[in-house]
Amino acid sequence: MNAAILCVGTELVTGMVRDINAGFLAHRLLGKGIFPKWTLFVPDGMEEIASGLRFLLEQGVNFLFVSGGLGPTVDDFTREAIARALGKSLVFCEEAWESIRQAFYRIRGVEPPENNRKQAFFPEGARFLPNGVGTAPAFILEERGTRIFVLPGVPREVEFFWGLLEQEIPTLQGGVYRSEILKFCGIGESQLEEKMLPLLSGLPQSLRFAFLPNYGEVWFFLYGQDVPLEDQKRAEETIAAVKSAFMPYLFSPLGETLEEAVGRLLLERGWRVALAESCTGGLVGSRMTDVPGSSRYFERGYIVYSNEAKLTDIGVPEEVLCRFGAVSEETARYLAEGVRKKTGVDIGLGITGIAGPGGGSPEKPVGLVYVAVSDALRTEARKFQFRGDRLMNKRFFSQAALTMLFAFLRERDVR
Ligand code: ATP
Repeated sequence: MNAAILCVGTELVTGMVRDINAGFLAHRLLGKGIFPKWTLFVPDGMEEIASGLRFLLEQGVNFLFVSGGLGPTVDDFTREAIARALGKSLVFCEEAWESIRQAFYRIRGVEPPENNRKQAFFPEGARFLPNGVGTAPAFILEERGTRIFVLPGVPREVEFFWGLLEQEIPTLQGGVYRSEILKFCGIGESQLEEKMLPLLSGLPQSLRFAFLPNYGEVWFFLYGQDVPLEDQKRAEETIAAVKSAFMPYLFSPLGETLEEAVGRLLLERGWRVALAESCTGGLVGSRMTDVPGSSRYFERGYIVYSNEAKLTDIGVPEEVLCRFGAVSEETARYLAEGVRKKTGVDIGLGITGIAGPGGGSPEKPVGLVYVAVSDALRTEARKFQFRGDRLMNKRFFSQAALTMLFAFLRERDVR
């Protein structure tokens, strides 16, 4: 069985908004063993939506998900375009209109404006579903053996409707196989692949592997369609072998995110951490405290953005700041050691760098960052160089800091 996804929105096609819905639906479909064979993005145009829909129907998929363009405004065409593509007329549904009125009362406490009536029209033969989190109803119809689910564009609403529709979609045994996703940090994609190849060379034909780089992390998994049981067993054995060979870099069994994994390692040791962040402006602390229960190991974080703050809050010597500069390995070391001693925790982290776009020089270019980690026995520091814009660099810096913490706690060489 397979499926297709059609996302409607000029903002998606032009890259102004990053897709969430296609990724979410594909992931959920895969979880049911259904292969998401096609994903198509089309702008908010009657002809584009209609031809996109016709094209996907010609592929003969079992399930077709459409998201976006169900709003009340003149640039929302999905309803009309689907009716046109299928040669159907739009019919008003009193019950759907009532559900929209109720949603308006629930969310805004007022009657819907008259132009929202548009959202109660559906192609003939469609079944509508009231929206539990927004206002636009979804609808389902059947065409030439394909079940078409038409959902609003707001990601939270797509999730809500998936919850409703899930039971209407079978879960297949066999179908698509996907192993556990292994997540690594502190090792590059090609280096990991090269080292891993001997373990992968004997894999059966039915299995493929994927390496996905993701902000300094590398995700790895095995997958395939109609994978025989004995091959699935081989896949599980390979995954187990990879896990034990690359344990120092592997964080996913400890948590879905790197910050969760770091938290788990701190908890295992019964350690508390404190941060002195400059260029990340608190991002490392924010990520670490995204994890529920982080108060058990997160003591505090300082944002020491100015030289003055580095000096007065953490005690980085003025001489160090003058001689080596605020962005230097020495300053990072003083930050990590200083924050640890000042707060009396077990492990301190210091981070200083240049996020850009200004402030760089030939010796210290934009994207340069120093991270240091310190416990009672040692302080490790490392230099990283990234090449993103300001926000990307901040994200990369925070990732480098968490990767260093992870390596330090795993007692792996951080270099
Ligand atoms: P509504 O009736 O609530 O307006 P709609 O069906 O008209 O819903 P859109 O107007 O197309 O939905 O999109 C609503 C919001 O959801 C917009 O901010 C849009 O950018 C966002 N959105 C739509 N599709 C996606 C997607 N695939 N991924 C992420 N965001 C999306």
